[in-house]
Order: sequence, then C-alpha cells, then structure tokens
Amino acid sequence: MDIEIIAVGGYNEVGRNMTAVRCGKEIVIFDMGLRLDQVMIHEDADIENMHSLDLIEMKAIPDDTIMNGIEGSVKAIVCSHGHLDHIGAIPKLAHRYNAPIISTPYTSELIRQQIAGEQKFGVNNKLFALKAGQRYTISPHLTLEFVRAQHSIIDTVFPVLHTPRGAVVYANDFKLDRTPVIGEPPDFARLRQIGKEGVIALITESVNIADNGRCPSEKIARDLVRDTITSYEDDKSALFVSTFSSHISRVKSIAECAHEIGRKPVLLGRSMERYSSAAEQLKLVGFPESLSMFGNRRTVDRTLRRIMKTGKDKFLPIVTGHQGESGAILTRIVMGDTPYKLEKGDKILFSAKVIPNPMNRGQRYLVEARAKMAGVRIFDELHVSGHAYKEDHYEFLHLLNPQHVIPSHGDISMTGGYAKFAEEIGYTLGNDLHIMRNGKSVLIK
Ligand SMILES: [Zn+2]
Repeated sequence: MDIEIIAVGGYNEVGRNMTAVRCGKEIVIFDMGLRLDQVMIHEDADIENMHSLDLIEMKAIPDDTIMNGIEGSVKAIVCSHGHLDHIGAIPKLAHRYNAPIISTPYTSELIRQQIAGEQKFGVNNKLFALKAGQRYTISPHLTLEFVRAQHSIIDTVFPVLHTPRGAVVYANDFKLDRTPVIGEPPDFARLRQIGKEGVIALITESVNIADNGRCPSEKIARDLVRDTITSYEDDKSALFVSTFSSHISRVKSIAECAHEIGRKPVLLGRSMERYSSAAEQLKLVGFPESLSMFGNRRTVDRTLRRIMKTGKDKFLPIVTGHQGESGAILTRIVMGDTPYKLEKGDKILFSAKVIPNPMNRGQRYLVEARAKMAGVRIFDELHVSGHAYKEDHYEFLHLLNPQHVIPSHGDISMTGGYAKFAEEIGYTLGNDLHIMRNGKSVLIK
C-alpha cells in the first residue's frame, strides 16, 4: 500500500497547519489551521464573512486546492488540539470534504464554536469526540488512536494512524511535561509500545528545535506566577495578570494564587470567558469558587467600575491583551477607555511572551509605555513554552524510532534546524528524512 504525506500548510511558516496522509485510495487530513497575523495586516478583514479562496490568497489558511490533484477520498479530518493555527480554517475548508471531524472533547467544543460563528459557509461535517487513549475505526485498513500528550492547551493528543505498513504519528504540537498542572503526563508507555510495533513515519513540530535542553514544565510557570503574586500579599494596589485565554492550566494557576492572597480572581474578556467556561462545563478544570468571569464589553466595564468602588486590593483581574491587541481588555484599561483608573504602584504581570512579529512588538510597546506613564510597574515573561526543545525531540525520536521523519510546523529555519538535528543522530535527508514545503508531497517507500 502506497503511503504519501502531503504538506498542505504550516511547512513554510508557524501557523495554518494542515497535512494529508494518503494510504492507498484513502486520505486522512490532520489539522486545518489559521495564520492570524496574515489576517491582522489587512485592517478591514472580517474573517467570518470571507471566502476561503480570498483567505488562501492572503496565506491565512492552507491552500488545499492541491488536494484536487491527489487521487483518493478523504475519510477523516483529525485535529490534534484546539489552537487556532490547528482548527481555525475548519469553518472555511471542512465542508469541501465528506468526512467527520475527529478530536478530543475540548477541541471538539472549540471547533463547534468556530463553526457556529461562520457566516459564509454551511459546515455540516459530523463532529466526533474521541478521548485520549481511545480508538476510532476509519475503514477496514485504517484505525485512529489518540495518545495522551501535553501542550499549552488542555486535551492535546498525539493522533496515531495505524496503517497496514505501520503507524503514522502526528506530533504537532507537544511538550514532554512530566509534571503538568492539569491532566496526566504524556503516555510514555504507550508511545514506547507504538515504537516497538513499528512507526513508518513521524510528522513532528519543530518550533523550538533551536533551544537546547528540555522545555521547562508548566509547574515552573506556576512557580514563577506564584512567586510574584504572593510577594504582594499585603499590597493595596492593583494586580492585573494577562495570559493566553486558551491556556487553561495557566489561568487556573493564576486564579489559585489570587485566592491564596485573599483576592477574588475575575476573568475579563470575550475569549477569556469562552475558553475557560467551555473547560469548566466539560469538567476539565476546577477553579476556586470565588472566581467569576465576564465576556462582553458592558459586563466587563460594569465589573471594572465595581472593582474601583469596592477596592482594587480585593480583586485580581485576569485579562486579555498580552500582545497589546487593540480592543483587548488590558489595552482598553491602559488607554483609559474603561471606568478603571490606573495609579502609581499598580502592577501588570505578563504571563506570556511576545509572539515575535513587528506588529505585536509595536502594540505591546505602546501598551507598556502608556502604563509606565501612569506609574505602573511591569512584570514580564512569567511564562514557559508549550513546545518541545531539542532534548525533548531527542527523547521522543528514541521512544518512537520512526523509519521516516518529516519536520513540520515551522519556517525553513525550524524544519531545517530539525533536519540538521536528525542527521546528527543518524537520519539522512532525502532518504528517510524529508524537508517539505507547502504544496509538496513525499511518497514513503
Ligand atoms: Zn499549539
């Protein structure tokens, strides 16, 4: 049986991931992602109403028109986790395939919300929630298995496609966190077993391949946040924390620290409310009982007015806006567009790093500069990455011992960096190691 790996998106950039695996006449698609910064450079872009071909033209979603040239029928669309660069193009592309969308319960809920917000296309693909550790029979030849992983969003898995020629492992994205804040560590025992049974191909992310050593555990980020927040137990000024809305483990850690120093954690912002309430409803997280959340502008402003009145030292708002995005809560507060007045000695903690593109850097600079003018103290980088470092990749390769390796999710410096690393441990480029570009494919011999 022929196995062909088709690089649709995410091989020339970080973002808009999509890979197709053809086994004989059957095709399984992994991820359909969005590259948000390509949309943001167009001021008037209104994604919900845009046509997929225009978004492809903008390089915001994968160019799946190459699928027309691939012989076979798509049997399943599989998403590894709920980040937008893995699910954000589902509303624009999935309807073109007569196939179910399979993902973990939390990812499925986020996909359902994405589809519900779509204005242009009707997306009627069946959503199927498969838990980590479970299997799904795609056809007599193909079985899908979800193996537990860890990443910067909960309910992330390694989707493993069992074919007659061995397993195809899709490891995009992951970290090997042995002490996660939510959930269990990755299922090392099962990964080792799959490695023994035989892996024909590994498709692996390469974002942090240039970082030596191991990616620090989420436990370290919790300690960084806790160390700073608890230092201000007796402080009377404001404490704001901004982090990724989708990073439920981090939100939980921050909320627990707030509770510990006697402040009420309040989640503010539409995406902050959306991701956390979905996680809470699926019982994937337990927050302190004192936590409340407000999404829309009216309730957010009302809450900020109440905090001003009751006392800044009674609350710890967890807000959107760590990249300085216009319209986010932190940006609105700093710009004076809310009832909240910043004063000398107030504190803003960033539990995130700036995503390195000039637009984010500029926006974030603006927010920080304005905050400093009001006498606000800034705390930066209370954060660890969600992506494997070089020694994590080394361990992972030895667990799985794949016949072929395909680095994905990264620009050429990242996929190329991975290739250099893999050659050092015995793979050969063009033989059993393949650097792909968007729109190219490789036949696994
Ligand atoms: Zn991710």
